[in-house]
Amino acid sequence: GRQFFVGGNFKMNGSIKSITEIIENLNKAKLDENVEVVIAPPSLYLLLAREHLRKGIEIAAQNVFDKPNGAFTGEISAQQLKESGITWTLIGHSERRVILQEDDSFVASKTKAAVDGGLGVILCCGESLEQREAGKTIEVVTAQLKAVADKVKDWSKIVIAYEPIWAIGTGKVATTEQAQEVHAAIREWLKKEVSSDAAEKTRIIYGGSVSEKNSAELAKQADIDGFLVGGASLKPAFVDIINSKS
Ligand code: 13P
Repeated sequence: GRQFFVGGNFKMNGSIKSITEIIENLNKAKLDENVEVVIAPPSLYLLLAREHLRKGIEIAAQNVFDKPNGAFTGEISAQQLKESGITWTLIGHSERRVILQEDDSFVASKTKAAVDGGLGVILCCGESLEQREAGKTIEVVTAQLKAVADKVKDWSKIVIAYEPIWAIGTGKVATTEQAQEVHAAIREWLKKEVSSDAAEKTRIIYGGSVSEKNSAELAKQADIDGFLVGGASLKPAFVDIINSKS
């Protein structure tokens, strides 16, 4: 079976004080041992988090660049993250695709650099409300993933996060049926375009207004292998989301 995976994406939130408190809370919490937990604080706090967070919980950057070093002002490489004990990175979050205008090909190139650099990648995909209403959800999501499959053959270090844009930060969570339908389609796509092994083993997690109130129901779906949590990952209830299978 696939190990349940829960990520916390802090986005551009927190301070030394509040992030230290979140970490202390996680350190003393009773977490389901079968769940892989990864938190993604802003880059400024990655080392603080690594220093204080207990072993067994991993840390992700929210972004990474596609070159190992050089004249790339403001960027951080997979090699620099790895050396600092940061073992994961998010890539392709819709906020970066929309606000920072990252396209599919840049997302793919960064995923390749991260995988080659030995990082785990939480690869985000998802449609806008307009695209959903036009019946294009599966088409949009699989095109986002196809760009990556063109450059990356080994998917063993990739976790796919399906995050419908209309569900992010809106309190409007996808229904269990809506999420399961897309997750199943992604798994089908993996089988056809990557390999049956990748289809079987790749975790496909859901993100978008996940809370301690809706996580248990979503977690029961056959193809939902965990969550990428935004707002609620900053609160004590993140622990209940991590434990939603137990
Ligand atoms: P919210 O959980 O705040 O809706 O954010 C989801 C998200 O974008 C996680 O990456």
